[in-house]
Amino acid sequence: PTFKSLGLCDQLCEACAALSWEKPTKIQVETLPLAFEGRDLIGLAQTGSGKTGAFALPIIQDLLDHPQTLFACIISPTRELAIQIAEQFEALGSGIGLKCTVVVGGVDMMAQAISLAKRPHIVVGTPGRLVDHLTNTKGFSLRSIKYLVLDEADRLLSMDYEHEIDEILKLVPKERRTYLFSATMTNKVAKLQRACLKNPAKIQV
Ligand code: AMP
Repeated sequence: PTFKSLGLCDQLCEACAALSWEKPTKIQVETLPLAFEGRDLIGLAQTGSGKTGAFALPIIQDLLDHPQTLFACIISPTRELAIQIAEQFEALGSGIGLKCTVVVGGVDMMAQAISLAKRPHIVVGTPGRLVDHLTNTKGFSLRSIKYLVLDEADRLLSMDYEHEIDEILKLVPKERRTYLFSATMTNKVAKLQRACLKNPAKIQV
């Protein structure tokens, strides 16, 4: 299959081509059609599989059809991964003026708050710093988001971020799409899945 045959719009097919993504990876082949149907997703996949593209492309395609700031929030276990996810969103969205803000620990809160005040389309963050901003940064909320992504959920949970994730789940709309990606399916991941996904489609590569 090609990106186009999976339902990706011409603009995003061109963005993939510009990154030399010649054809979709296995996780992208499985994920894109289900995402375009509007399903919640559980993806069991490792880093390196192309999983970021698998969730970023459908989110950006929906954003193109329904332009709105604070459209999606991606939760990542580590700063490095958060930065990589934001870089992929920015690369895929460079032609459409997509704005992305990274909120991770160890960096000045104020600079992040200023970036959030400019109302990015996508917020990528680590759990603790996201909760800090949701609690302390005036005017910032995730009440309008259409998508919540929990990336590397097994690592999020093994790093004891359950409490922060619960806090974030209380502050996002019930009506939303949720994508959960994990390298492994553990009991804790299964529990989180039941708490935050609706009738999810499962993809394993
Ligand atoms: P990820 O698994 O999301 O961390 O992606 C690993 C790497 O694969 C990243 O550098 C992506 O830019 C790259 N990548 C993602 N999708 C494709 C694709 N369809 N073709 C070639 N490279 C890709």
